[in-house]
Amino acid sequence: MAGTGPVRRTAAKAASEADARAAGDAKAAGESATNWGRSWDIGIWTVIGCYFMLAFCPFIVTYFWMACDSFQCSIVAPVEYVQAHGFEQLYHNHFPKPTVFGFQLYFGWLSFQAILYMLLPGKIGYGQTTPAGHTLEYVVNGLLAWFVTHALFIAGSLYFGLFDASIIADNWGALLIAANVYGYFLTFFSYFKAYAFPSHAEDRKISNSAVYNLFMGIEFNPRLGKYFDFKLFHNGRPGIIAWTLINFSFAAAQYNRIGYVTNSMLLLNWLHLVYVIDFFYNEDWYLRTIDIAHDHFGFYLAWGDTVWLPWMYTLQSHFLLRNPIDLSTPAFTAVFAIGMVGYYIFRTVNNQKDLVRSTDGKCLIWGKPAKVIRTEFATTDGKIHRSLLLTSGYWGISRHFNYVGDLLISLAMCLTCGTGYILPYFYIVYMSILLYQRIERDHMRCKGKYGDYWDQYCKEVPYKLIPYVF
Ligand code: NDP
Repeated sequence: MAGTGPVRRTAAKAASEADARAAGDAKAAGESATNWGRSWDIGIWTVIGCYFMLAFCPFIVTYFWMACDSFQCSIVAPVEYVQAHGFEQLYHNHFPKPTVFGFQLYFGWLSFQAILYMLLPGKIGYGQTTPAGHTLEYVVNGLLAWFVTHALFIAGSLYFGLFDASIIADNWGALLIAANVYGYFLTFFSYFKAYAFPSHAEDRKISNSAVYNLFMGIEFNPRLGKYFDFKLFHNGRPGIIAWTLINFSFAAAQYNRIGYVTNSMLLLNWLHLVYVIDFFYNEDWYLRTIDIAHDHFGFYLAWGDTVWLPWMYTLQSHFLLRNPIDLSTPAFTAVFAIGMVGYYIFRTVNNQKDLVRSTDGKCLIWGKPAKVIRTEFATTDGKIHRSLLLTSGYWGISRHFNYVGDLLISLAMCLTCGTGYILPYFYIVYMSILLYQRIERDHMRCKGKYGDYWDQYCKEVPYKLIPYVF
């Protein structure tokens, strides 16, 4: 291990910053120690953006659902329909409608996942130390919950014939309404909980804008009881466990419709399966990613996990149901290769970070001793903590090379749909924007947390994503 840390921000300096903070002197405390959580000084455009997203995000998801459900996944056809027949006709004939069964199915599924989350055994994982100095425990049982859920779904539909495996695809519009109801309920519930009975009051961020607070969240790690963690549950269970189930159900619907499952649908199911199994196999690792370590719990995560994630991330399977295509062997091989190379990069980059952190830098990276910058940072309880930043291996190529892997996997998922339509490519465009925004947010967070150490890292590793490009 070769420590490269020429920058010294001493424990004494960090402690005096913490003291200054305790005394309420934000200026004396300085940016680096006080501001490493989410920002809370909000400008007017941010607030307008929050209003817009709170009001219009459900329409975006509904638009995509409708484009697929009624217009063969053409992105412009609903607009042309409005021009020809008016919005009212579109609403009456093509908007999703709530059904009692849709609500029963959705809330039954949600309750079942909550029961699995609370009752299944699992090892204890630990999150990152929060700005207020908490290190939370999590019961990591997602992989088991994934197996139980899928085994019951497959046995119930294919073996016992209790319901058709296409049940999710068949009720996709009604489920969308039910999920939206829950997503908004959860957003408002989390907002009021943050004031009425917060889980860790010192980790709350309350900005000068109520709308921003609603959108980005106030509580950092809201919980019910000791272990029901809102973030981990909603991202993992109604969010990510659902992906493979949804894809499977759309594959079954395709089978019902055309008598077989296309190779493109099989490939899409495979790519998602690899990603999802990886996520749960490494659920412990997920506790230290930005979702858990940085974002507060508001509409962005509450509605995002319950509506955006299951509907928009599986758009390709909806597309392939409406437009079944078989890829040629070269196209299939190329898409498979892009996806698997992406997965390899994604996993190995993330593993390097985990390895260097878990061995305190005493490990080999690409056959050589890891190069690290040893850092210190302070939490608002005045304690000084130590950490390290890897500067060799992938983390020496660029500061977010793991995102390159993610983007390749996302591209492969879009390519399973061929090149005839724009709509399936929404996903790669969205992921590019999301990850770009994450790079910027993470930079601000790390600069705030590590101060000069972070500047040193940026100097040693100047590129954010792709060397010599960005
Ligand atoms: P990272 O895994 O890159 O985590 C960033 C954090 O890692 C930083 O805040 C910092 O946290 C720490 N860190 C930064 N640089 C170094 C370094 N050189 N050495 C050691 N630690 C460092 O980001 P994400 O959490 O966003 O992503 C995790 C994975 O999830 C990625 O592979 C990403 O592609 C994927 N992802 C997928 C999404 C999807 O929707 N499919 C969405 C977002 C992410 P600290 O020092 O505080 O520990």
